[in-house]
Amino acid sequence: MPAAYAGSQLATGVEPPELAYAGLPMPAPDLGAPGEMAAEDTEIAAAIEASAEWMTELLARLVDKDTTLGGEEAGQGVIREALWELGLEPVDVAMDPEALHAHPAASPFDWDVSEKRNVVATWAPEHRDGGLSLILNGHIDVVSPEPRIQWDRDPFTAHVAGEWLYGRGAADMKCGLAAILGAVRGLRELGLSPNAPVYIQSVVEEECTGNGTLQTVLAGYRADAAIIAEPFGAAITTSQVGVLWFDVVIEGLPGHAAEAGNAISAIEASLMMIGALRGLEAEMNLDPPPPYDELPHPISLNVGQIHAGDWNSTVPGECVTGFRIATYPGRSLHDLRARIEQVVAEATAEHAHSFPRPPKVVYRGFAAEGYELGRDHLLVDSLSSAYARHMGAPPALVATTGTTDARVFGLVGGIPSVCFGPYAEGAHGVGERVYLPSVVQTAQVMGLFIKDWCGVS
Ligand SMILES: [Zn+2]
Repeated sequence: MPAAYAGSQLATGVEPPELAYAGLPMPAPDLGAPGEMAAEDTEIAAAIEASAEWMTELLARLVDKDTTLGGEEAGQGVIREALWELGLEPVDVAMDPEALHAHPAASPFDWDVSEKRNVVATWAPEHRDGGLSLILNGHIDVVSPEPRIQWDRDPFTAHVAGEWLYGRGAADMKCGLAAILGAVRGLRELGLSPNAPVYIQSVVEEECTGNGTLQTVLAGYRADAAIIAEPFGAAITTSQVGVLWFDVVIEGLPGHAAEAGNAISAIEASLMMIGALRGLEAEMNLDPPPPYDELPHPISLNVGQIHAGDWNSTVPGECVTGFRIATYPGRSLHDLRARIEQVVAEATAEHAHSFPRPPKVVYRGFAAEGYELGRDHLLVDSLSSAYARHMGAPPALVATTGTTDARVFGLVGGIPSVCFGPYAEGAHGVGERVYLPSVVQTAQVMGLFIKDWCGVS
């Protein structure tokens, strides 16, 4: 069970490199006896293997685009080109701010999304012939690479060293998009097409709201299952926490530092508030429900941003602190918000001299419920079996302490959903990288799964 998001799992028999992010080549996987591959399985795996270079090139082109929030379109352009190249027609699903603001499952936002586009291609048989339909989804947005000074190289120039590809988004999750497209390419090279529709999606805003995937659901894209190619490695995620973003806006009383006795520092008050919220975090980690009881610290409170002050000799009059906290599947965000506001109110009352006005709690960004899919669900079984056939051993079934768009499919669309993707390291960190052979393996397992789930002919 991974202890954190960076819980990308190594395939059985693969040893991790001694030093993460040092660019050391990973030992070649020795997976022991192969699973029972039918002749057609072997053909599919080989055709996808033949697209390995194409996938690496596509991944590099994607990493070369800075697709941080607001810049997603540069990456979507690459995805559209790749889809055309595969003979599929990309369709834009534009973000509709009004519809999103009105939707109860949307995360709140106060930035402009009106120019943002999700890209979806439908790969469908002329006449549906049994089989189950499938959504393959990945997000194009990445988080900021700051502080850039810590990177050896430009984070938005893909760099291959040994069997690793480095750069912001290499892991989270442009590698997954490359694997999805590689799987489709391999099957198409064999002249195969699915017996039920396969929807290929590249979405925006996974890293802050999940509203991109929500927009595709609102646009009517549904299927019998969804796989998100997040980089969890040799694992299928069946459970994920919920995530809530909130800002605490604290007002102090500005004044000259030389007369600090008459002023009240909003920064000092914020530090106290962080301490109070750490208490809530500790409380939430006390008695986790399964499977989170297997993890040492499933609920993380992250202080992600502090904006305060503008002069060293002025006592700061305002401090806005941006937080992220998690919650367990099945727990209501409404209750969590109430609890946060209670903690803030209690800390304010206890230290009344530090708060000339009551702090405000403001919600923007993630309002994501937790999500779980039964480990005995047909989707989990079927994907595990495709994996085991190809890799010679079953994947781990894991709970993650982060959120993914799987919850949007599951909770809003009623579409059973899991994550399965390449092995990668350093998501959101410095020296982010993906193990390239695992991109091919992910694509191969997806190819076999499409054969099993949708049927191909
Ligand atoms: Zn991701």
